[in-house]
Amino acid sequence: MTPPDMDDIVRLSKQRGFIFPSAEIYGGFRSTYDYGPLGVLMLRNVKNAWWRSMVQMRHDVVGLDAAILSSPRIWEASGHLANFTDPLVDCRSCKERWRADHLEPSPADGVLHCPNCDSTDLTEARAFNLMFKTHAGPVEDEGSVAYLRPETAQGHFVNFMNVLQTSRKRPPFGIAQIGKSFRNEITPGNFVFRTREFEQMELEFFVPPEEAGEWFEYWCTERLQWYVDLGIPREMLRLRPHDPEELSHYSAATSDVEFLFPWGWGELEGIANRTDYDLKAHAAASGEKLEYFDQASGERYVPYVIEPAAGATRTMMAFLLAAYSVDEVAGEQRSLLRLHPRIAPYQVAVLPLSRKDTLVPVAQEVLSLLQPIAMCDYDETQSIGRRYRRQDEIGTPLAVTVDFDSLEDRAVTVRDRDTTAQVRVPIADLVTEVRSRLGI
Ligand code: ATP
Repeated sequence: MTPPDMDDIVRLSKQRGFIFPSAEIYGGFRSTYDYGPLGVLMLRNVKNAWWRSMVQMRHDVVGLDAAILSSPRIWEASGHLANFTDPLVDCRSCKERWRADHLEPSPADGVLHCPNCDSTDLTEARAFNLMFKTHAGPVEDEGSVAYLRPETAQGHFVNFMNVLQTSRKRPPFGIAQIGKSFRNEITPGNFVFRTREFEQMELEFFVPPEEAGEWFEYWCTERLQWYVDLGIPREMLRLRPHDPEELSHYSAATSDVEFLFPWGWGELEGIANRTDYDLKAHAAASGEKLEYFDQASGERYVPYVIEPAAGATRTMMAFLLAAYSVDEVAGEQRSLLRLHPRIAPYQVAVLPLSRKDTLVPVAQEVLSLLQPIAMCDYDETQSIGRRYRRQDEIGTPLAVTVDFDSLEDRAVTVRDRDTTAQVRVPIADLVTEVRSRLGI
């Protein structure tokens, strides 16, 4: 087995239609990316798998989709206007800019060098705010300033009373949200690991303050397990508690779920105990009461918040890296993505052995049987061997082949991506067989 390599993933993404550099015909645009036909399916599957585990399979979490374009008052109260900064240094020699906390003093002379031109003539670090600022409406003045949200959270907090009053939930309960966030990162890079526009999947889980420690541990365990259940090898994952000096301005404790990227361990998700910081800050700034009143006990309190905050786009890349492998079949090398059926872009490929008129109607019939239960690809080009290779390379767990015998015996061949084993299945049993093989 060959270890995953970034170049393999970038090449595969481009060649097979997962991820394209944005505005490629104009030479690309500042580390932005577009998700192609396979990428859009896979990214949606990552988000659906998260939603299924965080909302559908629970009774204590509800959903939200808040506005991206947001009021400066939100970010002033949350502390982002003052604190959501990275330390920026400029190289006076080549004019490149760097995140000071990503530079290491050189072992030779103990000072910082520019990674681009090696100059030591760097400016002092200064705080650079990562929020994208814009104007809402036709007048570009201070009164029309708006921000693109740098995290989906805050939408959860400012809607706390709306959700509490309409959902009939009481702490412990959570609000889940998936959507785009924007950060003007100083040094985006490593493909879609760090981009300026990305998607997040965030849960804000509101708990009685005395239960916060317990729920923090609970969510650390749950969230790590989610990646394992979806096929990332346990040894490529770890949970790393933050040192006290690393903690964000709102956090009492944070642990990161980290993945072993080709360049080393990197964060997939942060789980933070945000205390009552956000609700109290928004209550103070808005003058509204943001608290829970327990009618049974007559008790009134501001809940603590445990936040598992994951990146959908970064996680998709981790799934690709963990799934990529090269093996040998019948003396021939093949590359494949061992993706979990819930994550793979297509679950089933329907392949008529040839484009002969007699086979196509049966293949179409098989396709219509499977489409309601799985995302299917349909391919009648090239030799069957090449079509299998293509499906292996894009991670399709099952291929269903319609051949000339199918016309006589009303059966098809089902081929497994990982083992390449093939079995004959009557068309009448196909839906049951595919369902049980995919576990869906
Ligand atoms: P980092 O330390 O990598 O900058 P962070 O600690 O600031 O990340 P959080 O604010 O905890 O990140 O955001 C939660 C998740 O959102 C991250 O774990 C990551 O998966 C994702 N994320 C954050 N910033 C980016 C980005 N620029 N590009 C892609 N995903 C991101």
